[in-house]
Order: sequence, then structure tokens, then C-alpha cells
Amino acid sequence: MTELETFRAETRAWLQDNCPPSVRGPGTIPIGSSKIELNEDTRLWLQRMAERGWTVPTWPKEYGGAELNREEYQILIEELKAINARTPLTGRGVNYIGPTILEFGTDEQKAKWLPRCARGEGAWAMGYSEPGAGSDLASLSCRAERDGDNYLINGSKIWTSDATYCDYIFVLVRTSPDKPKHEGISLVLVDMSQPGVKVSPIQLISGASPFCETHFDNAIVPVEDLIGGVDNGWTVGKRLLQFERSTHAGINISGSQGGRVEESQMPGFVRNYVGETDGKIADHHLRTWLTNYEMNTHAQRITQRRAIEELQSRAPGFTSSAVKLTNALNIQDGDELMVAAMGSQGLRWDPTTADSAQLDTLKKFLYQKSLTIAGGTKEVQLNIIAKRVLGLPD
Ligand SMILES: Cc1cc2nc3c(=O)[nH]c(=O)nc-3n(C[C@H](O)[C@H](O)[C@H](O)COP(=O)(O)OP(=O)(O)OC[C@H]3O[C@@H](n4cnc5c(N)ncnc54)[C@H](O)[C@@H]3O)c2cc1C
Repeated sequence: MTELETFRAETRAWLQDNCPPSVRGPGTIPIGSSKIELNEDTRLWLQRMAERGWTVPTWPKEYGGAELNREEYQILIEELKAINARTPLTGRGVNYIGPTILEFGTDEQKAKWLPRCARGEGAWAMGYSEPGAGSDLASLSCRAERDGDNYLINGSKIWTSDATYCDYIFVLVRTSPDKPKHEGISLVLVDMSQPGVKVSPIQLISGASPFCETHFDNAIVPVEDLIGGVDNGWTVGKRLLQFERSTHAGINISGSQGGRVEESQMPGFVRNYVGETDGKIADHHLRTWLTNYEMNTHAQRITQRRAIEELQSRAPGFTSSAVKLTNALNIQDGDELMVAAMGSQGLRWDPTTADSAQLDTLKKFLYQKSLTIAGGTKEVQLNIIAKRVLGLPD
């Protein structure tokens, strides 16, 4: 047996013994929030995987990882998939801020923050966008002023997803207002349990409140919790965005959910609504659409796989923008195809007449329109691809 074959056999055996049956299949995936109670099996699964270093399989062992190389990482993901095991831990800790601290943090910062990210001790929110700073992020005005051994943070962030459940927030702040706008920014880590941090949920038309406004009123950050150096936040913050985009694209190998390969349910779904003629999906237009969608999905998977194989770090640089964008467009195309296949049944909004699966499909179609806004809009990704990937002039 080669070393990799041995690794696969041991991984398979360990997962069989340690993955509780109830965490195989769809269900809650922890984000590490102290405010969300986990059921016994989900908690046990997280604890066992964290002890083995497999919540962050590629991180160094001293910070809670298992130091898996790319091949071993792929094997772990394939074996998790083979038993339909849920990811033990997800969120901005293992996927965004953790790998950023690994690249830019000091040894003390790594020792302080990474093991707790790896164990899921605390969920993280993202404090980037402001009412006047979305795509033009460098225009942000939330500020940090030095006060002895601390920074005092004042200002507001908007669209902070999940902030009501989060324990910490990483925030881009202005540390030097007199410098050119890209050069006066820093990235700080803020404990959200202090009185200087207030979270206001934004209620959407659906009644749900996944987004919040997060206000800072003299919130305190110890100077040692500024990551990557004072006024270096634009560089650090952009790298974090690459981790975010790579997560959306399925090519971030920091946490243990990257590189998922799922069998397409689409042919069965469309066939179910449209029916068949001579063994083929009856509607010619939908049949062509489905064929294109399946080919694009396959191409996307191969691209994800190739991007992971070519990785020099836990996530690619500017390639993340391209794969994030094509992934989002492909998912949205699939949503539109499902709604089209459902015909008039796909447009029922009233829960007393629509069946719940149809309603879920419609809600997913609407919600996933946000995939070409979150993490940087489609136009912003196209600008990055034009300039940084294709090298076109400004
Ligand atoms: C589901 C979701 C979750 C989010 N979660 C978070 C979060 O947790 N934390 C956080 O900080 N933010 C979060 N955001 C905010 C997100 O990062 C911003 O919405 C995004 O960066 C766009 O900024 P904006 O909404 O201000 O739009 P704007 O920047 O005002 O853009 C408006 C329109 O103008 C276009 N545009 C702007 N500039 C250019 C340009 N130079 N060239 C071409 N077109 C341009 C845009 O593409 C867009 O179509 C989230 C957003 C969504 C949808």
C-alpha cells in the first residue's frame, strides 16, 4: 500500500467509528456560536473532529490542525462525502479570519486565536461594508484611535451577516485619516460581548433578519489584536476577501468542507415536473437548458478540482474571483431552471396553497440572487478578472 492508500484506509475506518449516524445527511452545521446550543451528536462530532485536527485539516498541528497536504486533504473530503457526513464546523472563523491570521499574524496572535477558531469556540462576524463603502470599500470611515494599550473603535458597519449570533467580529477600520484612503486602514479583532458594541437586526421583507447593523461606541480593542500591522489593513483585508470568495467558490482548503462533489439532482427534478416523451425530457427548450446546465456544472467541478490541485496556499489569489463568479452564475442558472420547470406551480407564494418543497425552491431562487452581491458584486469580480487575471489596462 502507498502512504496515501494507508491514509485513506485509516481515515475511512476512523470516520466509520467516530461519525455519529445522526450527523450524516442534511442538518445544522455549527459556526462556533456560544449563543446556539448544539444537540449531543453534533457537539460530539465537532469535538472528535477538532481533537483530530480535522476541523482545519491543513493548519499546523500547534494551532489545532492536522497538517494534511493537498492529496490527504482531498482524501479526507472524499471520505467524508462517501458517508454523507456533515461538515463539523463552518463559518468565518475557520474559513476567513483563521487563514488570514495564519498568513499575517504574529506567533502570539496565532497562539491566542487559532486554537479557539479550530475548536469552534466563538462565531465570527465580518465588519467590512458601511453605508458609504460597499464596492468602494476603501472609502470606509469607521475609525480606531489609539488610547494607551488599546484602540477605541467608533462608527458603524452594515450587512453584518449573523451578527446577533456572533461572539467576535473582524473589522476594517481607519487608523490614519490623513493618509491616502488605501493606506490608512487596519484590521482589528473585536470582542462583541462588550458594552461598546451594539447589534441591530435589519428586518427583510420576508420577515427574516439575517443581516444586521453593528455599531461601535468606544469599543475597546487591545493593541495586540490588530492583525498584520498598523495601516496595512488594505493588504490583509483583500487577502481575507480572497478566502471569502474561495469559500463561496468551493476552493478554500482551510476548513473541512472544500471541494465538495455532489450528484446533480437536476435531471430528476426537471423530469418529475415536465415528464418524458420517448425516454427524453418532454420539453425541448428545458432539455437543452438542462444539458447546458449539467455541462457547466461538470466544468465547474473540474475547475474547482484543478484550482485545488494548483494551490500554493490555502486559497488562490485572484483566481478566486473567477471561480466564485462562475460558481454563483451556475447556481443561479440552476435555480432559474428549477423555477421554469415547475411552471405556474413554481410561483405560488402562499404557504396554504404551495407545497413546502415548491416554496423552498422559490425562496432559494430568490435568496441566491444575493450570490452575485455578497463577497463583492459580479461587476467588481469582472473588474478584478479583467485587471488582475487577464492583465487588461485600467
Ligand atoms: C447575502 C449577503 C451577505 C453579506 N454579508 C456581509 C457581511 O457579513 N459583512 C459585510 O461587511 N458585508 C456583507 N455584505 C455586503 C456586501 O459585501 C456588499 O453588498 C457588496 O460589497 C456591494 O456593496 P453595496 O451593497 O454597497 O453596493 P454598491 O457598492 O453600492 O454597488 C451598487 C451597484 O453598483 C455596481 N458598482 C459599484 N462599483 C462599481 C464599479 N467600480 N464598476 C462597475 N459596477 C460597480 C455594483 O456592482 C452594484 O451592482 C453582504 C451582502 C450580501 C448580499
